[in-house]
Amino acid sequence: KIYYDSDADLAYLKDKTIVFLGFGNQGAAQAQNLRDSGLPNDKILIANRADSYAKDAISKNFNVTDDFGKAAEIADVLFILIPDQVQPRLFNEKVSPSLKQGCTIVIASGYNVLFKFLNIPSTSNVVMVAPRMIGSSVRSLYQNGQGFPCFVSVEQDGAGKALEIALAISQAIGATKAGAIESSAREETAMDLFAEQGLWPNIIMLFQQAFSVLKEAGCSDEALCYEMQVQVYFNNPIITYRRLNTIQLKHHSTVSQFGQLSGALSLDGSTIRKHFENILHNQVLNGSFARDFSKLEDALEKEGPENPLNELYRRAEETELGQAEMRRNIMAIDASPGH
Ligand code: NDP
Repeated sequence: KIYYDSDADLAYLKDKTIVFLGFGNQGAAQAQNLRDSGLPNDKILIANRADSYAKDAISKNFNVTDDFGKAAEIADVLFILIPDQVQPRLFNEKVSPSLKQGCTIVIASGYNVLFKFLNIPSTSNVVMVAPRMIGSSVRSLYQNGQGFPCFVSVEQDGAGKALEIALAISQAIGATKAGAIESSAREETAMDLFAEQGLWPNIIMLFQQAFSVLKEAGCSDEALCYEMQVQVYFNNPIITYRRLNTIQLKHHSTVSQFGQLSGALSLDGSTIRKHFENILHNQVLNGSFARDFSKLEDALEKEGPENPLNELYRRAEETELGQAEMRRNIMAIDASPGH
């Protein structure tokens, strides 16, 4: 089911105090969209540690507090828009104990709810409103009057009217204009983690191998980076999606269409299928990735090589493709998304 503006009613947010935990990628975009949809500024509160994100919120004329407990006490609707690995500690220690009775908690990814990492009172609603976009696109598509797709679900209807409130939120942030797709925390998490851990690593690996083989055959880094449009693929999910789907393919040359479709259909998918099944069931859905990832919360805050994410970037940058991309960044060649 896909919900549009006509399925939603902003009246369900009337007189409600709306708190945003976090003013980052999603928080800044969603809070501004919601306000621009007519919800009063004095009913919106940003809860953030007193630092640059808080300053950014203040500069955009939002009310800001660094007291998460006080914010929880007054929240009728509470958006959790801080990084997933940070959510359990902050929510369980500082928010959950003082949560207002009957509050609707809004998540933008299913992860922590699916794996039950958050201590949520049974009297709260829990809804997922998960944009399929980065925050800057959530904002710019709203400003262009286009809207953006998102997944919406009710994970817990403890206070009542959870679906109505979820749809009102989807409308207020601009999602029902493009279509809010009925989903669930399980579906969203399965697809997200699977794509991140199963699909995209293979595509990145394919690019790395293709790059290496063509380089060995005498192709230059500059020509390869441009031709393979590596940055465009990885930096812009919309273009990636459009380029990979078969509608976009029809705008390619016949040689390209024939080569891509016959090539894809002639691949033996059985090995990759086993690999995909293993990732989905033994890494994603059984929660083993989530449990291991939770243990990295502190390490991910560190600077330098002690941060495991920095170490992964370092290793990726060591590959031939990574080296070429960095050189190309320095040269700042602009690759357009055209074929
Ligand atoms: P960000 O990384 O942009 O979050 C930054 C915000 O979190 C800042 O306000 C920051 O404030 C706060 N924050 C970070 N660490 C802490 C901490 N230890 N304690 C308190 N506050 C902290 O998050 P995103 O917007 O990327 O993600 C938010 C949610 O949206 C996640 O559930 C994510 O899965 C989901 N989502 C994200 C998308 C995206 O494109 N990024 C797309 C769709 C969904 P400060 O550091 O100042 O305290």
